[in-house]
Amino acid sequence: MSESEFSALQGQSPNALRAGENEGLLSAIVNQSTVGVSVVDLEGRFQFVNDCFSRLVGRPREELLRLGFADVTHVDDLSQNMDMFERARNGEGNFEVEKHYVRPDGTYVWVLNNVTFLRDAAGVPSAVMAVTLISDRKRAEARQARATKHTALRAEVSVAFNEGGSLRAILQSCAESVVSHLDAALARIWTLDTGRAMLELQASSGLYTHLDGGHARVPVGKYKIGLIAAERKPHLTNSVQKDERVGDKEWARREGLVSFAGYPLLVEGQLIGVVAMFARIALGQDMIEALESIASTIAQGVERKQAEGALRESEERFRTVAESASDAIITIDEESRILFVNRATEKIFGHAAPSLVGQSLTMLMPDYLRHVHHASIKRYIETGRSHISWESVELPGLHKEGHEISLELSFGEFTREGKRYFTGVVRDVTKRQQAEEKLRESERSLRLLTEAIPQLIWSATPDGAIDYCNRHLLEYAGKTLEEMRGDGWVNFLHHEDVGYIMESWRMMVKTGEPFEVGCRLRRADGRFHWSISRGQPLRDAGGAIIRWYGTCTDMDKWKRAEGVLRETQGELVHLNRVMTVGELTSSIAHEINQPLAAIVMNGNACLRWLALDTSEVTRARASAELIISDGDRASQVISRIRALLKKAPSANSTLDVSELAREVIALTQHEVVSNGVNLRTNLGTALPAVSGDRIQLQQVMINLIVNAVDAMRGAEGGRRELLITAGKESGGVRVSVSDTGGGFDPRDAEHLFDAFYTTKSEGLGMGLAISRSIVEAHGGRLWAEPNEQGGATFHFTLPGGEEVSP
Ligand code: ADP
Repeated sequence: MSESEFSALQGQSPNALRAGENEGLLSAIVNQSTVGVSVVDLEGRFQFVNDCFSRLVGRPREELLRLGFADVTHVDDLSQNMDMFERARNGEGNFEVEKHYVRPDGTYVWVLNNVTFLRDAAGVPSAVMAVTLISDRKRAEARQARATKHTALRAEVSVAFNEGGSLRAILQSCAESVVSHLDAALARIWTLDTGRAMLELQASSGLYTHLDGGHARVPVGKYKIGLIAAERKPHLTNSVQKDERVGDKEWARREGLVSFAGYPLLVEGQLIGVVAMFARIALGQDMIEALESIASTIAQGVERKQAEGALRESEERFRTVAESASDAIITIDEESRILFVNRATEKIFGHAAPSLVGQSLTMLMPDYLRHVHHASIKRYIETGRSHISWESVELPGLHKEGHEISLELSFGEFTREGKRYFTGVVRDVTKRQQAEEKLRESERSLRLLTEAIPQLIWSATPDGAIDYCNRHLLEYAGKTLEEMRGDGWVNFLHHEDVGYIMESWRMMVKTGEPFEVGCRLRRADGRFHWSISRGQPLRDAGGAIIRWYGTCTDMDKWKRAEGVLRETQGELVHLNRVMTVGELTSSIAHEINQPLAAIVMNGNACLRWLALDTSEVTRARASAELIISDGDRASQVISRIRALLKKAPSANSTLDVSELAREVIALTQHEVVSNGVNLRTNLGTALPAVSGDRIQLQQVMINLIVNAVDAMRGAEGGRRELLITAGKESGGVRVSVSDTGGGFDPRDAEHLFDAFYTTKSEGLGMGLAISRSIVEAHGGRLWAEPNEQGGATFHFTLPGGEEVSP
C-alpha cells in the first residue's frame, strides 16, 4: 500500500480528510506522530510504516516493507498475535494486545498494539496498527501486579494445604486460585490412582466446575493430560489452535483460549497427578514460573495428604482390629510402661482399659514373675537375646481380683526413633485349659473303663491298623500290644480263618460298614476258641472315619452248648423214629409174616416134590427159588427197619422222591389198610433229583402218613381217604400228604410244628417239629393246610437238581 492508497483508506473514517486535498498534511501527521503506525495486509505483510514505528522496531522503513509483522514480533507473543489477527481478519473486529517487538540487536520493546481492520475503496481489508510504547515504569508496575498475584497464588495454595479439609476441597481451592490469580479460563487438577494408572479429576474451576464430565478419568498416556503424566514433563503452548495435542480446537476457538499449560505433579520423581490450565492470554515467563512453583507445592501437599490418609486409614484399621479382637492387645515401651491396651484387655484382666495406660505391665503379672520380667526385658534390650519364644508362650497372669489366669502370649517388636516398643497379644486360656483337663480326665476314666471291663476290646486307625488292645485282650491272646499292633493280630487267628477274616477286614475299611465275623482265635494257652469279632466306625461331624472300635467275644461255651443241643436233637429224632417204628409194629410183623408164611408153604411144597421122584426136581427147584426170593423180601424189610432204627450219622445221596415215597408206602401199607384207609398215590416220574438223607426224609414221610392215619382213625364215620402225591415244584419237588380226618383249627396251623405240641394222649408232640427241622435242613419248607371238605394236607418242598432218569 502506498501512502496515497493509505490516504484513501482514511476516507472511510467519519472524520477523514478528503483524499488528495490534505494528503501532504496527513502524511506529515502520520509520519511525525509519536504513535507508531503500520498497515499490514491480510497476510500480515507491512504495507506502510511510519517513522515512529520504524524507530520502535529498530529497522528502516524499506526493510520493514519487505517483512511481515511476525518477523518483528517476540516469539513468546507470536502465536497469540497470529490467533488474534486471524480472528479479527475473519470479521471479529478490532483488538488490543500488549506485546513485544524484537529489534535486530536482540533487545525488545514492550508496546500496546491497537489493531483496526479497514477496507479500501475496492473493499480489500487491511489492518492498521497503532503502537504505543509502554513505559518501563508501566511495565514494572504490571510485572509487580502480576508478581503480587503470583505470590498470592502461592500463598493461597500453601494455606489451602495447611488448613486441611478434604483433599478434594483443598485442590478445588487451588484450582480457583489459579483461575483468579493466573487469569486462567479453566484450571483443573487430577490425581493418580496408581493401581489403575488412571488420572482422576479432583478439582475444576473457571469455565467448568463439574467433575464428572468427559475428562473425569484420563488414562495415563492418553490425551494431552495423560501424556503429561506419562512423560512427566510439562506441556506449554501459547498457540492452542496450532497445538496438535489440543483435541477440541473448535471449542478452544469458541472460548477464545490461546494458551495451555499443564504440569505433572511430581514428588521425587513419583507421579502424583497433573495440574493444567487454559487461558485467553499468552503465558508469560512469570506465569509459567508461578504455575511451576504451585505445581510442586500441590504435588507435595497431595502426597502428604495421601500419606496422612493412608496412615489414618491404617491406624483406623489397626484400631478396629484391636478393638474387635477377643484377645488382649497391649503395647509397652522399653520401661514396660503400658502405652496402649484394647477393650479385650479389660475383659481378661478386669482392669478398666484407661486405668492401665501409663502403668507398668508387671501389674498384670503374679508377684513371682515381676522381677523375672524386668530382668529379661533388660537383658533383651542389652543383648538382643530373649529367654522365651516370642510365639505362643503360656504364662500365668494376674486378674484385678487377685486370682491367677492362664494366658497364651505372642509378642512383636517395633522401633521408632531409636526406641523399642513391644506389642503382645494375650489370650485367656483358663477355660481351654480347664476343658483340656476335663478331657484328659474323661480320657483317663474311659481308659480305666476299657481296661477294667471284662471284654476283649481293640481300636484301629481309619486304614485298619490296630493301635490299641485292652489288657484283657492282650492277656487272652498272650501277646504284647507291640505284637498285635498294625496287622500283627493276624497271628492270633486260626490259619484257616485268615483268608476270609482279612477279606472282611478289607471290606470294612473300604466300605466303612460295621462288620461282624465268627473266627477262631488262639488263646494264650495255644487252644483255639470260637469268637465273634465286631467292628464299628467312629465318624467325625463330616462323616469321615476317625477310628475303628471293636470287640471279640469268646463263643467257646456257646459253641459247645450248640454241639450238645445238636446231639440232643439227634437223640430226639431217633427217639421219634423208634416210636414211629413202634407204631408200625403190626405193619412190620405183617410185612415179615407174609414172606415167612410163603417160605414155609414153599418149603413144604419143595419137600413134597422131592419125596415123589426125581422127575419132580425141576418143580422142587422152582419152590426153592421162591423160598429164596421170599427170604430176600423178608430180609429187605428187616434191613429197612434196621436202617430206620439205626442211629446212623446223616449221609447225603441223590434221591428220587417218588422212589422214596414208594418205599415208605410199602412200610406203612399194612397200617393204612388195616385202618380201613383207602390209599391213592400220584407219584410223578422224572422229578428233579433231590440231594439229602434218605432215612431222614423217609422219617418225614412216615410221620406225615402215620399222623394222617391217626387223624382219620380219630374221626368218626365218613370216608377214610389218603392221597400221597409227589410232583415238580419250581426249583425242586413237592410232596403232599392229604387226609380226610378231623383236620385242625386253622389258628393252630403254626403251633402244630411246635415241639411237644400234641392233642394225642399217647403223643409226644415231636413228630412235626422234627420233620420241619429235617425239611428245612434240606433247604425246603414244611407246612399244613386244612382241606375244604375236612381233613388236612401237609406239604413239603425240597430243592432239586436235574431230573432223575426214570
Ligand atoms: P404227635 O403225633 O405225637 O401228637 P406230631 O408233632 O406229629 O406229634 O403232631 C402234633 C399234633 O398235630 C398232633 O397231636 C395233632 O393234633 C396235629 N396233627 C398232626 N397231623 C395231623 C393231621 N393229619 N390232621 C389233623 N391234625 C394233625
